[in-house]
Amino acid sequence: MTRAHVLVVEDDHSLRDVVARALREEGHRVTTAVDGAGALATMAPDIGAVILDIGLSDSDGRDVCHAMRAKGFGAPVLFLTALGGMADRLTGFAAGGDDYLAKPFHLAELIARLGALLRRAPAVLDGGTAGITLDPATHAVVGPGGRVALTPTEFRLLAPLLAAPGVVVRRRDLRRAGWPDGAIVHDNTLDQYVTKLRRKLVQAGAPCSLEAARGVGYRLT
Ligand code: CA
Repeated sequence: MTRAHVLVVEDDHSLRDVVARALREEGHRVTTAVDGAGALATMAPDIGAVILDIGLSDSDGRDVCHAMRAKGFGAPVLFLTALGGMADRLTGFAAGGDDYLAKPFHLAELIARLGALLRRAPAVLDGGTAGITLDPATHAVVGPGGRVALTPTEFRLLAPLLAAPGVVVRRRDLRRAGWPDGAIVHDNTLDQYVTKLRRKLVQAGAPCSLEAARGVGYRLT
């Protein structure tokens, strides 16, 4: 399973403690906040997911999510709420939330949903040894040299490479990641994209580069 630094924002202290303990038992690192102001003050670049109560004492969790997104935070946000209505669900998604869980809920469901969000979130891919991060909110690669904008295709190509630094990602899998089903993508088109990505990695001051595995694919090393 994917482990992450998770921020839990909940004003009900017993629920906050129960959730935090359960996530720690799953191997996640947990930071907690009791309200919206605390959550925004706690935001750190390594936070890989946020569990965010909608009914906070000082604010609406949806506004907090909105503020996080406006600051460029791209990792998944899972809302908790006592309200189960469709309207709240929709406004939650509109505010930039990724999933939604109505109270009362089973901890096992919260953990399963968080796991699903983390598995499909390129935001949490900090590449470890690769030394770069991908920001899905702005389609940028961020390295020690700064932030460099990527095109959507470049972003989709880099995500699977960054998910497994050092592992060869096959050309077929890169084509699937980068382009819609059925698109005809010639080998030299893929190579041209890799050339552009290499240049952008250099611009971002990345300590890693894209290495060709002849005839097979590419890897981030
Ligand atoms: Ca609450």
